[in-house]
Amino acid sequence: MDCIFCKIAAGEIPSDTLYHDDEVVAFRDISPQAPVHVLVIPRKHIESLVQLTGDESSPVAHMVDVANQLAREEGVAESGYRLVINCGEQGGQLVPHLHLHLLGGRGLSGELG
Ligand code: 5GP
Ligand code: ZN
Repeated sequence: MDCIFCKIAAGEIPSDTLYHDDEVVAFRDISPQAPVHVLVIPRKHIESLVQLTGDESSPVAHMVDVANQLAREEGVAESGYRLVINCGEQGGQLVPHLHLHLLGGRGLSGELG
């Protein structure tokens, strides 16, 4: 499958990896929008949030746990941070493999998005 995040999860494309386990991988965004900008992805290829029907066990809770832990390690837990999942074209999703953005280290706009 020609998916950039599957290739990152498999180690076929290098990334600045901060955490990995059997289910998820976390790595720094290549084009950071904030001093701390980390992506947390499931190893399994799930295209987007809309694919999660509730029938299967969702990786999202674990992705949030990992992001919270990385927020502490990256030193933004006290100052504050934002977790974002873009879904679909109008949701601003460019890479069609589910991912959670962890953003922090600067004041983020109060607007959604
Ligand atoms: P989206 O807009 O789909 O929610 O976010 C995709 C994110 O993936 C963007 O912030 C983009 O900078 C990041 N990204 C795209 N390709 C790569 C890559 O090859 N390596 C890394 N580390 N990040 C990437
Ligand atoms: Zn994928």
